[in-house]
Amino acid sequence: MIRDAFSRPLRNLRLSVTDRCNLRCAYCMPEEEYAWLPRADILTFEEIARLVGVFADLGVDKVRFTGGEPLLRKDLPRLVRMIAAEPRIRDLAITTNGILLAQEAQALRDAGIQRVTVSLDTLKPDRFRALTRRDAYQQVREGIEAVGRMGWPGLKLDTVVMRGVNDDEMLDLIEFARGVAAELRFIEYMDVGGATRWSMDQVVARAEILERLGARYGRIEPIEEVSSAPADRFRLPDGLHFGIISSTTAPFCQTCDRSRLTADGQWLLCLYATAGMDLRKHLREGASKDQLASLIRSAWERRLDRGAEQRLLLKDRQPLVQIGELKAKPHLEMHTRGG
Ligand code: SF4
Repeated sequence: MIRDAFSRPLRNLRLSVTDRCNLRCAYCMPEEEYAWLPRADILTFEEIARLVGVFADLGVDKVRFTGGEPLLRKDLPRLVRMIAAEPRIRDLAITTNGILLAQEAQALRDAGIQRVTVSLDTLKPDRFRALTRRDAYQQVREGIEAVGRMGWPGLKLDTVVMRGVNDDEMLDLIEFARGVAAELRFIEYMDVGGATRWSMDQVVARAEILERLGARYGRIEPIEEVSSAPADRFRLPDGLHFGIISSTTAPFCQTCDRSRLTADGQWLLCLYATAGMDLRKHLREGASKDQLASLIRSAWERRLDRGAEQRLLLKDRQPLVQIGELKAKPHLEMHTRGG
């Protein structure tokens, strides 16, 4: 296992398999037009599997498929099967917006996906349409219900909480998650690339989330566990578990063992990284497995990234990247780097 400059191991790989998405969420893709990655640059399944093999040699044992929306990648279960065949990858998960989940769930499970996370920011169809600019609420609900019917454990629902947008639904979302046997995770609204309309005023901080839930449910207990997972987990007095991902007000960079591979093979050491390593170039120029491993190892061993902690130190916090720069550098977009 390799460790970075702060002794953090490289364990988690987030694989973005496409930069395309079938929603246009306000906190991620608020613009009308986007610059998409050129098709010829998108890694083939064979290239992705080869890179995952190299990462596994270096200690990666968890892979999460992301996007854009990963289920838009044609024939994704075939890639899942290829990665699942790598015995050192012991945890295989996917984050999806749920639109295509009902039709894909069985194939994904058969292929080897162990855990599913669905983004769900509202239970109100009109609000869903306003927030995502697409009329797909019913499909997302059907996707979540399909996972439930299959008795597939480990379902999580991720909710980005935005003040004045959906923070009035926190209790409803908790109860909805209870009803579908999912664990809900509230995510603080983050100032990452793509969140061009972000402002601190709209962030509902972890402390406030706990206070508002506590006012309804009573004493909330933190669940003590040793984990590099981004969510801190809590228990309601009635035993229900939920999580909070507090990247904006209480970051967890100290234990971060995650890196990201974009669909066109850029390897990013942090969600806030402004540049990455072009693994596609090395791969397509014929680099051997050992050469790729050596490049990855030396970059990780120099890694000093702690983007969210550095953002916290800023006095006048604004969106990370302005729209002009995003258009010129699509790799800064969260939908490209797999949030
Ligand atoms: S900001 Fe970067 S270093 Fe910190 S937890 Fe997120 S990905 Fe890891």
